Amino acid sequence: MVGPPGAGKGTQARRLSAERRLCRISTGDLLRAAVDAGTPLGKMADEFMSRGELVPDDVILDLVAEELGRPACAGGTVFDGFPRSVGQAEGLDRILGRGGERVDRVLEIDVPEEEVLRRLAGRRVCKNCEKLYHISFGPSQVEGRCDVCGGELVQREDDHPETIQRRLAVYRQTTSPVLSYYEERPGVTVIPGDRPVDEVAARVRRELAAVGSGA
Ligand code: ADP
Ligand code: AMP
Repeated sequence: MVGPPGAGKGTQARRLSAERRLCRISTGDLLRAAVDAGTPLGKMADEFMSRGELVPDDVILDLVAEELGRPACAGGTVFDGFPRSVGQAEGLDRILGRGGERVDRVLEIDVPEEEVLRRLAGRRVCKNCEKLYHISFGPSQVEGRCDVCGGELVQREDDHPETIQRRLAVYRQTTSPVLSYYEERPGVTVIPGDRPVDEVAARVRRELAAVGSGA
């Protein structure tokens, strides 16, 4: 899934992986876990993340290659927030090619920039189980507390105005060329993301119905 920060990639990728029992690889989640754990990778990544910059391609590709080696990912994977540069897309083709695999579908989640800004400003995430909320579009029942586990809901460090602007600029400059990379093969399906979560999910489901069924 490709789209600007706040497009709803995480929201949709989680649903899809649960429904289709696919492994989900979110490089953002993996990096945040490393930052929280205080590992050398986390310390290095934090320097880039807190500025809204991309973590270097070689670091990301090592992370993805390791994740893909997990047995849970043998039946197919949804990539959320990856690849974010043409270098990463080329690297992914190399990694998948070793196992005779390939990218089946690329979904571009398309959301206008003013909506993305509203979504990022109101995004909250459970510190404990990582469930996503939005203060207006998908609030928790009790303010500041997760409906599922009761954990504390927090705002992401990089969901602040200056960092958001930088992340959007990085998307335009470095990530959007990934869509041209995939234009020839396998092609890119544009999903209008400025619709309610269930509607977007239904569209994603429809687009991917044939994937994995041999079609
Ligand atoms: P991304 O992974 O692309 O950065 P998220 O899935 O984290 O985006 O969504 C960003 C914010 O927008 C979250 O607060 C989420 O709850 C909210 N959101 C996601 N999809 C929708 C939607 N279709 N309509 C309204 N709000 C949404
Ligand atoms: P996300 O959770 O996908 O919004 O990612 C949060 C931040 O993590 C980004 O702004 C980048 O700094 C970093 N990041 C996540 N995925 C990647 C990636 N594929 N390549 C480079 N940096 C990434």
